[in-house]
Amino acid sequence: MILVSACLAGVPCRMDGASKPVSAVVDLVTRGEAILVCPEVFGGLSTPRSPSELQPDGRVRNADGEDVSEQFYRGAELALKICRAYACTGAVLKSRSPSCGKGRIYDGSFTKTLIPGDGVFASLLQEAGIPVLTEEDEVSSILSGGQNL
Ligand code: SF4
Repeated sequence: MILVSACLAGVPCRMDGASKPVSAVVDLVTRGEAILVCPEVFGGLSTPRSPSELQPDGRVRNADGEDVSEQFYRGAELALKICRAYACTGAVLKSRSPSCGKGRIYDGSFTKTLIPGDGVFASLLQEAGIPVLTEEDEVSSILSGGQNL
């Protein structure tokens, strides 16, 4: 079983109320081989919501200046529990998100500046030993090939 960001499967849970469906992820869900999670919604944040960015000190703030760290970390912990409950062998997450992004995220200044780093949930998953890809990796060939991540 693969854990996926719900927005990549077509769930309109993004901060702007939209989704970002990726066909390889939707196919995985259709085949019953994926579990959907949205850590930000799990943490109690509404949709739509103000954009948030991870700060250099590890806190998360939104564009209105509110500290939403508690919601981000609580949602990530809950999503990790779901990952473990379904014995997921890997995850495909949404790139550049302050929760789900892997490898590059925004720097916390709300100036669209990307820096090396991982979102709150992507970090937690990797610390737990779960391999993480984003939709910008070659997920279609990997997922259609039936490989474990
Ligand atoms: Fe998608 Fe993750 Fe953001 Fe939820 S928290 S909308 S799953 S990128």
